[in-house]
Amino acid sequence: MAGEAPADCLFCKIIAGEVPATVVRETDTTFAFRDINPQAPAHILVIPKVHHPDAASLAAAEPQIAADVLREAGEVAAEEKLESYRLVFNTGSGAGQTVFHAHVHLLGGRGLQWPPG
Ligand code: C5P
Repeated sequence: MAGEAPADCLFCKIIAGEVPATVVRETDTTFAFRDINPQAPAHILVIPKVHHPDAASLAAAEPQIAADVLREAGEVAAEEKLESYRLVFNTGSGAGQTVFHAHVHLLGGRGLQWPPG
């Protein structure tokens, strides 16, 4: 079951078209758009249309939609012709999560260091 979305959820508003975004792909269950503050030449967010506060909560409640998000990230990477890329799920404010609607960052188009900061 979907979590109850807070009325002010930014990503729910992007899905609804109430906040502008550069849309990359959309399916019945997912939405992909370019990050407004890109950290790499390709920086795209893939999110579920249903509201859950983070990726683990999404996977626990709706594993098929979590799988849809991952598959879509792969489709976007292929469309962007990224041979190498990184998928990041920031979870919790201490890890840099600022929007509490599950999302995966797809980063690519440049060399990526390991470990990340
Ligand atoms: O993992 P985190 O929660 O920090 O990621 C949220 C991301 O949403 C940020 O990278 C931020 O740049 C992006 N964002 C966006 N469009 C907005 C507001 C935030 O792409 N209107």
